[in-house]
Amino acid sequence: MRTFTYLRPDDVAGAVEAVAADAEARFIAGGSNLVDHLKLGVARPGTLVDVTRLGLDAIEPHEGGLRVGANVRNSDLAAHPVVRQRYPAVARALLAGASGQIRHQATTAGNLLQRTRCVYFQDVTTPCHKREPGSGCSAVEGYGRYNAILGASESCVAVHPSDLAVALTAVDAVVVVQGPGGERRVPMTELHRLPGDRPQDDTVLEHGDLVVAVELPDSPVSGLSTYYKARDRASYAFALVSVAAAVDLDGDTVRDLRVVWGGVAHKPWRATTLEDRLRGHVLTEETVAAAADAELSDAVTTADNAYKPAMVRGATIHALTGLARRAGAATTEGVDA
Ligand SMILES: Cc1cc2nc3c(=O)[nH]c(=O)nc-3n(C[C@H](O)[C@H](O)[C@H](O)COP(=O)(O)OP(=O)(O)OC[C@H]3O[C@@H](n4cnc5c(N)ncnc54)[C@H](O)[C@@H]3O)c2cc1C
Repeated sequence: MRTFTYLRPDDVAGAVEAVAADAEARFIAGGSNLVDHLKLGVARPGTLVDVTRLGLDAIEPHEGGLRVGANVRNSDLAAHPVVRQRYPAVARALLAGASGQIRHQATTAGNLLQRTRCVYFQDVTTPCHKREPGSGCSAVEGYGRYNAILGASESCVAVHPSDLAVALTAVDAVVVVQGPGGERRVPMTELHRLPGDRPQDDTVLEHGDLVVAVELPDSPVSGLSTYYKARDRASYAFALVSVAAAVDLDGDTVRDLRVVWGGVAHKPWRATTLEDRLRGHVLTEETVAAAADAELSDAVTTADNAYKPAMVRGATIHALTGLARRAGAATTEGVDA
């Protein structure tokens, strides 16, 4: 058994200082990911700095949108009436994740910063560049059903597991970080990294950076939004692929949109080629399929994960044409009322 020091500071500055000063220290929030990694030997911190007493658990109005404290529990965020009404993709993504019990324990920041579920990353008896830089990648030649199809590298083919991260990227959320050098704001599109030759770094955060909040802006696209997740079981399973879609329509025509894919890359994959093709067009099965195919033109698959392009294409058609139908229904309902 490995021993470690446990600290529970009561202010943000103390928590940042405690981790920044000690290369072996790590923040812990709900512990639903990190404690598993302690048990598996994937993480071996000398000090755990508990962040649950820092007062970061409020959901508050912020510049027309919402500011969500880093420690807000996933179940509380999913149930919040403003989130349900104005950011439905976020509520749906949260409810599609894990189980009720885990959502009560899991926090907003912990969910975004959870690590890949790649089986080789979690198995300390196998080589993995992400866990042990320079050791190799077992997933490239191994069991590859869940592997990335976009943006992967020779070093790493793992996918990012968070449903919430995919939805927050689609609603243009911004992560507020308090680090040793002060506060900064990181757009969700820039928080997570592609692996390149540094797969051990999931995000752009530095050691000692504490996520204190996530801001959901007052965005014209977020109201008409959804999250659709394809998985092996109806619940309690990570995404094979997922789609967060958020649309601003002018009649039937797309004024603006965000489409983000989960389960396909080392980070939430903002489908910008697809988006560019759909702005100014009507959302039909044909237009969305053609745009998805353009986005997928660089996809690389193996026999194990060859199902993913067709699955994410179908999920995107389902999500976007569903939103278009919903917009038509909402207009009619509004007129009738
Ligand atoms: C069986 C099971 C099924 C699951 N299914 C899903 C699923 O379908 N979809 C999904 O999205 N997730 C799923 N999860 C993952 C679960 O949602 C995460 O474990 C959880 O969200 C992590 O939150 P936490 O607060 O427990 O994080 P912790 O385990 O406490 O921390 C996770 C990481 O975040 C860091 N961290 C925590 N808070 C901060 C902060 N404020 N600033 C900086 N760093 C911080 C920690 O140092 C650690 O590296 C599942 C988990 C389990 C066990």
